[in-house]
Amino acid sequence: MARYDQLASRVYTETRMPSGTRDLVLALGWVTLRDPRRHDPAIGTWARTREVMNTDNKRIWQLIAEDVPRYDFDLHDKAPMGCQAPMVRVQRLCGRNTMYGFSEFDPATGWMTYWGFCNRPRCREYMRTIEQRAKGSKDRAPEPIPNAGGLLPLFFSWNWEAKYRKAMALIKFRSSWEPPSYGLSADEWPEVPGQEKPKAFPKLRLIASGGEVIQRARPKLVIA
Ligand SMILES: [Zn+2]
Repeated sequence: MARYDQLASRVYTETRMPSGTRDLVLALGWVTLRDPRRHDPAIGTWARTREVMNTDNKRIWQLIAEDVPRYDFDLHDKAPMGCQAPMVRVQRLCGRNTMYGFSEFDPATGWMTYWGFCNRPRCREYMRTIEQRAKGSKDRAPEPIPNAGGLLPLFFSWNWEAKYRKAMALIKFRSSWEPPSYGLSADEWPEVPGQEKPKAFPKLRLIASGGEVIQRARPKLVIA
């Protein structure tokens, strides 16, 4: 199967991929593998990518910013509103307004769970065990395993760290972003129970240029 078809079919099986990231991966794939103008030395990969996507530089940086590898608490914490102590005779949680709340950090993943409990003595009794367990859990927990972004490096090798940094500063106005120590590419992250880890893909190389998205060097195919 031709490389571009392989790329497209792989992209369409990546169910967690946001549509913007998908557009960018497919456009980059088209520009580097299939575009009739791909051998024209006067046309840079990114300039041509903007052209085929009918978009501007800012949108490209937005798409890169959306793919920044990170841990996003909201993506996995599905704790219900209200007191989380179980009821005795019925199969549900108490659910009353919470008076006490604290966070617990998973010792394996570093992921955070938020606990909330109401003022009833029985609920507070239940809370105490969890509170004991949660105490100091932040210090014992590892750096959280990322659960968002990191999809562009699955398909293309490039100096993503510098690009993510720039995208965060330009688009999210955050200069504090640091690359996860687990790696930039989602296929490098440790497996988390209940989460499907993306499969690796033979990476296409996009030669990096100094600072700008626009660049002229020819991308090379990397056979993994
Ligand atoms: Zn309660």
